[in-house]
Amino acid sequence: MGERGGKNLHATCRNDMNDARDAIGLTSSEDVCNDTAEKLLSGQPSGDLRLDIIADYLRRAGCRFNITCSCCNPGSTTGRTHYPPWYPHLWSSCSVNICFNNLDESDVADAIVHELVHCMQGCNGGVESGCAGCLCAELQAYYWQNPNPAIPKHARILQALSSCSGDRCKGVSIEQAETMLSDTDYQHCLSTGRRNGSGSPQVVGMACGKCAN
Ligand SMILES: [Zn+2]
Repeated sequence: MGERGGKNLHATCRNDMNDARDAIGLTSSEDVCNDTAEKLLSGQPSGDLRLDIIADYLRRAGCRFNITCSCCNPGSTTGRTHYPPWYPHLWSSCSVNICFNNLDESDVADAIVHELVHCMQGCNGGVESGCAGCLCAELQAYYWQNPNPAIPKHARILQALSSCSGDRCKGVSIEQAETMLSDTDYQHCLSTGRRNGSGSPQVVGMACGKCAN
């Protein structure tokens, strides 16, 4: 599943960015991504409770994950999750790619959270097919980024649709998308990523990453 990048601060990759960055003593989104990936892959605390909870969950579930940080087409996606080629029959691993150049440093952790939720979904029975299935999986991924209960259903479905409209929800309007998920489906999607509620269990104690108050 690919995510559309909302920001495009660094349209260039390594080389160009290096000198400017070092001169003013800042880190880049590439450094943040590599550093976070290294910590998560070696089992160290990442500094983001959401990430630590998901990584711990994946390890306990025997879901091997890999995270790579790479430079993608500017303005394209912020991240992508790949499942093994035999998906959806035998999943026990997943591979996340983070497009650091389409992310602000402060948004790198959010992007990794999002993709690792897709990993969790793959290892927990897979993502349901069709547009509704895509929306459902995206709802959970975005919910982990920000579980603030004040975010209304309409806004959450709009957000999910932004990640599905280039693929399984091509040509689907927000009105149509909203009718695809009943209120019960919607609640199941937020917590498990599947309409029937059989997917990933929501981990209790999830950090409220960017909740407004
Ligand atoms: Zn997604």
